[in-house]
Amino acid sequence: MQLQAPSDADEKEMDPVQKAVINHTFGVPLVKTKRPVISCNVCQIRFNSESQAEAHYKGNRHARRVKGIETSKSRPHDADKGPPRPHRLALPA
Ligand SMILES: [Zn+2]
Repeated sequence: MQLQAPSDADEKEMDPVQKAVINHTFGVPLVKTKRPVISCNVCQIRFNSESQAEAHYKGNRHARRVKGIETSKSRPHDADKGPPRPHRLALPA
C-alpha cells in the first residue's frame, strides 16, 4: 500500500507558480527608498532635498505658519476666561 503524495514526482522540478513566488519575494528587495523624506510638519509640505527644506524654513510662508500656530496656542479661548459664575443672586427673604 502506497501512501505517497501525488506531487512526489515534482520534487526536483519546482512548481512554476512557486518558483515565481520565490523569485518575486527575493527578487524585489523590501527596502524602501533610502532617501530620507524631508517634510515640514507645520506646513504639511514634503521636500525632495535638504536645500529645498532649508529654503522653506527660511521663507516667509513657513514663518507665518509657525507664528500663526504659536499665537493660536498661546491664546486660550476667550470664552473660557475666568471661572463660571454661579447664577445666584440675593434672593429676597
Ligand atoms: Zn513650513
